[in-house]
Amino acid sequence: MAIATVNPTTGTTEREFEPHTAAEVDRRTGLAQDAFEALKTTSFVHRAQWLRAAADLLDAEAAATARTIVIEMGKPLAQAEAEIHKSAKGLRFYADHAEGFLADEPLDDPAAVGASRAWTRYEPLGVVLAVMPWNFPVWQALRFAAPALAAGNTGLLKHASNVPQTALYLDGLFRRAGFPEGAFQALLIGSDAVETVIDDPRVKAVTLTGSEPAGRAVAAAAGARIKKTVLELGGSDPFIVLPSADLDAAVDTAVTARTINNGQSCIAAKRFIVHTDVYDEFARRFTGAVAALAVGDPLDPATDVGPLATESGRSDLAELVDDAVAKGAKVLTGGGAPDRAGWFYTPTVLADLGDDARIVQEEAFGPVAALYRAADADDAARIANQTAFGLSSSVWTNDPDEEERFVRALDAGAVFVNGMTVSFPELPFGGVKHSGYGRELAAAGIREFTNLKTVWKG
Ligand code: NDP
Repeated sequence: MAIATVNPTTGTTEREFEPHTAAEVDRRTGLAQDAFEALKTTSFVHRAQWLRAAADLLDAEAAATARTIVIEMGKPLAQAEAEIHKSAKGLRFYADHAEGFLADEPLDDPAAVGASRAWTRYEPLGVVLAVMPWNFPVWQALRFAAPALAAGNTGLLKHASNVPQTALYLDGLFRRAGFPEGAFQALLIGSDAVETVIDDPRVKAVTLTGSEPAGRAVAAAAGARIKKTVLELGGSDPFIVLPSADLDAAVDTAVTARTINNGQSCIAAKRFIVHTDVYDEFARRFTGAVAALAVGDPLDPATDVGPLATESGRSDLAELVDDAVAKGAKVLTGGGAPDRAGWFYTPTVLADLGDDARIVQEEAFGPVAALYRAADADDAARIANQTAFGLSSSVWTNDPDEEERFVRALDAGAVFVNGMTVSFPELPFGGVKHSGYGRELAAAGIREFTNLKTVWKG
């Protein structure tokens, strides 16, 4: 894949970039290692100041950066701006909390281990490679960078090949905010050059957000070299609606949860599993609301849903829909691409899916919702757990027993009750099963790339 900005609204290539040579990658890795040596001597207070300065830059430059995001991957402008401000909030969160999250932890009863004192300490690992996707090109990169830099690690960002200008913006951000030269840099490389970076002894760990195949490849390369990985892969999150739910709120939220970011979010609700008692009403209202969405230019404030980010992303999505229809699915709305330039796909609702339809198992990365009728609560839980993914989930109920039952039953990294899944700096984020392992954000996220050192003193 060429490293280029190709505007998904028009299909026009706006800028192309030469990939970094092996020598340049080596130079940047050396800078990252030097920056790690420098960062190790800095305090949490220094690093917090620089994180806050980076947050201030992000906020101040949000309008221009948001336009770059829209030109590179096509999300509606207001959502791009919101992503940038959320990223600034993430930086400030770690500026405020990193020191507390990584404070030494003394053992209450050192005599039990024959010590006068014993404690644990979190130390940074060194250079961490971050392989990141295009769908939240600032937030995904910064939710790695904020805790990593706060802990004293340094970062090399291999961003998706279709967001190079966003990558280069992030490359400069932390240096301008005061971090040592090399603390956070972008590598303009294709995915075929990633294994060489993982092989470099100066690189200590890898985090990847993206597809399952990319996760497998990166984890295999890192595993062969005994390097730690965190994987945040795809999801096919269930959105379960039970008869006691507030149906108005469930329908409104369902539409947003499926179509935010033009439907390209790992934690988007993708499978709508509705109890038979409320299924027909939910299907009618949900389909009506999806059909009413404004599809258009993401720079137009009236637009709800813009184009898909890439041409191949659109054809993958169209194949999933066509396969489902060939296997008997009913199209309640949408079902194809509008006749216009760019990589648009009309928001779509599918029902009556055959068990053999690929979309039952695979992630639909675009504005396509699959409806399932559940005979009862047990059936809803069964359908929810029937994919190989386990990222997040959403359940709508006003019955406390039912709530507890679903919190226990769902095989997922998160359960949101009466709300849509959102990532917050304050809460851990990550999945189980083929959605990956490890956690980002909160205290768990900053501890992933640290050495938990045990200290024993006689
Ligand atoms: P990819 O997983 O291919 O891309 C994500 C990142 O991984 C990019 O930086 C990419 O680089 C890199 N990458 C891809 N393959 C490898 C590899 N073998 N070794 C090392 N790095 C690799 O996502 P796509 O953009 O192709 O989207 C395909 C599907 O992935 C989507 O339909 C969706 O299902 C899923 N996805 C999930 C995301 C999430 O948030 N969990 C985000 C994006 C996609 P490059 O761009 O150079 O190929």
